[in-house]
Amino acid sequence: MRTFDLRSDTVTLPTPAMRAAMAAADVGDDAYADDPTVATLEQRVAGLLGAEAALWLPTGTMSNQIAVALHTRRGDALACHPGAHVRVHEDASAAALSGVQAMPIGGRRGYTVDDLDALVDECACGWPPVALAWLENTIGDAGGVVWPIADRHDGVDGLELVAAAARARGCKIHLDGARLWNAHVVTGVPLARYGALADTTSVAMSKGLGAPAGSLLCSDAQTIARARRLKHAFGGAMRQAGVLAAAGLHALDHHVTRLADDHRRARSLARALADLPHWEVATPETNLVVARVRPPWRHAESLCAPLRAAGVLCYPNVAREVRLAVHLGLDDAAIDEVVARIRTVLGGLRGDG
Ligand SMILES: *Cc1c(COP(=O)(O)O)cnc(C)c1O
Repeated sequence: MRTFDLRSDTVTLPTPAMRAAMAAADVGDDAYADDPTVATLEQRVAGLLGAEAALWLPTGTMSNQIAVALHTRRGDALACHPGAHVRVHEDASAAALSGVQAMPIGGRRGYTVDDLDALVDECACGWPPVALAWLENTIGDAGGVVWPIADRHDGVDGLELVAAAARARGCKIHLDGARLWNAHVVTGVPLARYGALADTTSVAMSKGLGAPAGSLLCSDAQTIARARRLKHAFGGAMRQAGVLAAAGLHALDHHVTRLADDHRRARSLARALADLPHWEVATPETNLVVARVRPPWRHAESLCAPLRAAGVLCYPNVAREVRLAVHLGLDDAAIDEVVARIRTVLGGLRGDG
């Protein structure tokens, strides 16, 4: 029985063509900054984001944590939406590594200028100073939703409004763009417009783009020089990293525009599962389908466990939500089979009380 892995878009395997590009990569020692393939990828991503420079890092978590360290001092706060990856999925490392407290503002889909202003104002009452405004796009925890670039929306102000307000209040700005490629493809907003928002922007090669590893931190040359030292300090300076950077270059050539296929398949997956009584399926904006369990079901794991046993791998997004991630390892036929299995498995279930 074939297993379909929808736990994340990180589970993609390098394609044969990507492996060939990796095997052929020209490499050097990246800890000495002389791996030519890493340098090429750094220049290319910096160019796309309209930044002076970029730094290849093994993970997005390290990229985020270097951003925290760059922009804060111990005892500072950073402001982020409650489900931000940096706050809930990085093992409290902003606190552990940089002595910074992540302060939640706004809601699942982002926050407003007012939310940020209100938090900054609390400094006058002795709360920790907000040194850093944290943005994320797309927002993973909310199900890959796009944080709009401009204008006011219900409960969320556009990234450009928030960034301008943050700057006016003396905050640095980081954009966690692990899935910024998805936002770019679905909205058509140029990557450089996103890149212009923040002091540092992080993008991942290892999510929807399908490379085995790597994120890039983009900024001005001076900030990237400081980040390079932190990369070494955090244990991220790798040697012949060009074999991994080659996968990133291949992904930029072949796996960006195809993200639209993932988005289309996510919508069709969501539609095909929407009538099941077990959950309420949100309409996906990008490649992540989230479904909130309905009574009498209470725990997403009660649905995920039997699905995994039937070869449809998935996890709770949060305790009461199932997440199904669509990626380049799943074609139309795979989505059809996933739908059929989910309908069979859930059809045989009784509520978990
Ligand atoms: C996956 C992810 C990260 C971390 O990336 P890793 O490479 O898994 O460390 C950071 N932020 C967001 C929004 C993510 O989705």
